Amino acid sequence: MGIRETAKALEVIGFREVYFTEKISSTPKGSFKKPEKNKEELLKRHFESFKDCTKCPLHKSRTQVVFGDGNPYSPVVFVGEAPGEEEDIQGRPFVGRAGKYLNRKIEEVLGLKREEVYITNVCKCRPPGNRKPTSAEISACFPYLKKELEIIKPKVICCLGATAGEGILGKKFSITKVRGQTFPYPYDPSIKVFLTYHPAYILRNPRADGDFTQDLEELKRLLGL
Ligand code: SF4
Repeated sequence: MGIRETAKALEVIGFREVYFTEKISSTPKGSFKKPEKNKEELLKRHFESFKDCTKCPLHKSRTQVVFGDGNPYSPVVFVGEAPGEEEDIQGRPFVGRAGKYLNRKIEEVLGLKREEVYITNVCKCRPPGNRKPTSAEISACFPYLKKELEIIKPKVICCLGATAGEGILGKKFSITKVRGQTFPYPYDPSIKVFLTYHPAYILRNPRADGDFTQDLEELKRLLGL
C-alpha cells in the first residue's frame, strides 16, 4: 500500500491528520541495489580465486571459465547447466539462442531486463560437444556456485532444468515432475529454490512455452513483483 492509500485508509477509521515522521523512499522497480554492501567486489575477488581452476576434466576443453553475470542485488538468481559454445567464447552465461529467449521471457513475464537479474551456471566450464556435465563435475564445481550464492543471498534461486536442480538440491529428478515447485535451499532454508525448464528445452519443444510462462508467473508471485 502506498502513502496516499495508507493515509486514506487511516482517514476512514477516524484519523483526521496523518504525519509521516521518517522519510519513506521507494526503490524504483528493477534497481535492487543496496550500496552498503559491495557485492560486486566480493564476487570479483571470488572469481579471481578460481578463474584458472583445473579441478575437473572440463578445464581441458574450455576457452575460459564463465562466471555469473548481472545484478548481484537481484532478488532472483537464474541457474543454468553449463556454458555452451557462444558462452565459452564470450565468457558470459546465456548469450546464445537460449539466452536470448530467456531474456525475452524475463522481460515479458517478470517485467525485468536481463541486466536487472543475476544469471549463472552450476558448472563454470563448457563440456565438450555441449554434453551435460557429469555428477562428478557438478560436485567439483558446486563450491564455487555455493560461494557465489552466499554473496548474493537472493530471495529465490530459479533452477533452469534438471541439471541445475541437481547441483543446487544435490539429488536427481525429472524436471517435468517437479517444475513449478519450490523447495528450501539446503544451505540456507530462508532462500527458496524454484524449478522450471531449461530455455534450450523450450526451443526444442515450443509447445512447452506455455508451461514455462506459467512457471515464470509463479516465480513473479514468489518474488512479489
Ligand atoms: S567446471 Fe568448475 S570445477 Fe571444473 S574446471 Fe571448471 S571451474 Fe573447475
